[in-house]
Amino acid sequence: MTSKVLIKKILKEVLPYKKSLIVSMLCMIMVAAFTALQAYLVKDLLDKIFMEKDVFFLKILPGAVILLFIVKGFFYYTYSLLLERVGQSVIRDFRNKIFEHIHKQSLSFFNNAQTGTLISRVLSDVGQMQSAVSNVIVQVTRDFFQIIFLLGVVFYMNWRLALITLIILPVASFPIYKFSKVFRKLSRRAQEETAEVSNLLYETISGSRIVKAFCQEEHEVSRFRKQIDKLFTITIKDARYRVMQHPLMEIIGGCAVAAVIWIGGREVIEGTATPGTFFAFLTAMITAYDPVKRISKVNSNIQKGIASAQRVYDLLDIEPDIQDKANAIELPDFKDTIEFKNISFNYPNEKSVIKNLNLTVPAGQALAIVGPSGGGKTTLTNLIPRFLDIEHGSITVDGLDIRDVTMKSLRNQIAMVTQQTILFNDTVRNNIAYGKLDATDEEILQAAKAAHALEFIEQLPKGLDTVIGEKGAKLSGGQQQRMSIARALLADSPILILDEATSALDTESEREVQKALENLMQNRTTFVIAHRLSTIKNADRIIVVKEGEIVETGTHEELLAHKGEYELLYNMQL
Ligand code: ADP
Ligand code: MG
Repeated sequence: MTSKVLIKKILKEVLPYKKSLIVSMLCMIMVAAFTALQAYLVKDLLDKIFMEKDVFFLKILPGAVILLFIVKGFFYYTYSLLLERVGQSVIRDFRNKIFEHIHKQSLSFFNNAQTGTLISRVLSDVGQMQSAVSNVIVQVTRDFFQIIFLLGVVFYMNWRLALITLIILPVASFPIYKFSKVFRKLSRRAQEETAEVSNLLYETISGSRIVKAFCQEEHEVSRFRKQIDKLFTITIKDARYRVMQHPLMEIIGGCAVAAVIWIGGREVIEGTATPGTFFAFLTAMITAYDPVKRISKVNSNIQKGIASAQRVYDLLDIEPDIQDKANAIELPDFKDTIEFKNISFNYPNEKSVIKNLNLTVPAGQALAIVGPSGGGKTTLTNLIPRFLDIEHGSITVDGLDIRDVTMKSLRNQIAMVTQQTILFNDTVRNNIAYGKLDATDEEILQAAKAAHALEFIEQLPKGLDTVIGEKGAKLSGGQQQRMSIARALLADSPILILDEATSALDTESEREVQKALENLMQNRTTFVIAHRLSTIKNADRIIVVKEGEIVETGTHEELLAHKGEYELLYNMQL
């Protein structure tokens, strides 16, 4: 994306706030005008009061100065606040937009994305983009007009001296302009390294248990050190250029002041200029120093903003690879069959994971899927709610292709309990009610009871109101799993997917969870991936999936009698 396109895109985001922006810019122009007036008043102070000893001016000048600062202060306050509001509003809009966008993505996006990088897009890049935009607005409005007005003052007072400043201005801004290219590169690299730091932080903090278990604290600390060092090096490189700007500008400014003293001083001595003019002139020049310095950075600020905007838009431009069709319909309540016809699937750059698979599941059936690890069981079940899209063939629910219905209506009919329980750092109540936010306490307790979770919930210090820690850290594995089952029960969906939902359990909680699962599977169509025989035995039908294909199908007894893969797995378990 070119800079031009990016700037256009950013401007579009700012457009809704254009009224505030215009008012704020007008106030900036007023501030600029009053700053120039300030410099001009020095002339009257010196010439009328100090030289001519005019009592009238002595009476009005102090009042005028106070008034000037009050009015200028008012405009300053107004534009700063308005600009801040616009800036924060744009930040808010962007963050919401990115968050929404991230959650529109399909599962494959999350397989590839790094959490820390995404976090740094939402927090740091958006912030940097906004501050660049605000800076640019201040620079091109307030600073630009300040320079223009101050130039007006100096030309009005003494055009010969003014010409000197006009020559010096571009000279002064040249070196900073030169640096801006380096800045852009460094700023991009700094942001990338920051994202890496946040990835490391996220991974190691959320995986702290494993870090401890494998005694890898030192390893992680050294990894982190290395990453921070990289960031340090880049920041220092950036600083080397950044801090050079100030002395360079001062030297150039000093040369200008020297020239003014040389030429202006001579004019005062010769009587062609008044001392007031001379000092007002000097004041104007010194006042112009800051805006000139800032405005010469406008380009580097634009570059910085563009670098961040580029990353933000790179993310925003990722189209979710699984989307509803334009004419997608609502899936009616499931009541008949789910059919997989000749489906195949593979992950990008991977060999086929599911190959030409055919399967018909009548409503109400409990289908157990067994097979060696890596055989494609999880992948197969992820195809049903369209977490992933098949390449060939079709999956139909009551004859409707799942790609022809809205994902919302499809997923509303599916509940999932997976091996890794996904719980949020929230109360027990909100975790269970996640699939049905408006559930009453009674419904929640009922679901908890059926999931055999009620006993332990009642023993928690605050019952349903207990906050369970990040990812449910304050609960045991079995308790987490029963919470997930309660959640699925409450959602009350006709289709249920259990992906090794009992794998993390100790024998004690297993029986509890087993009972909970039986409750859950009643009157539902269930796909249950399990390696526990107790779960499998009760299934209506068992399929054995190996290397993406169904190699055997039948009931427990039939498959045992068949003496094939299933018998092998069965014997291994015993
Ligand atoms: P199972 O659940 O039967 O153990 P999976 O469906 O999880 O097997 O995996 C099937 C195959 O797909 C494996 O070979 C695995 O390496 C591969 N696989 C799983 N997830 C991904 C992914 N996100 N990207 C690439 N390959 C994957
Ligand atoms: Mg699996």
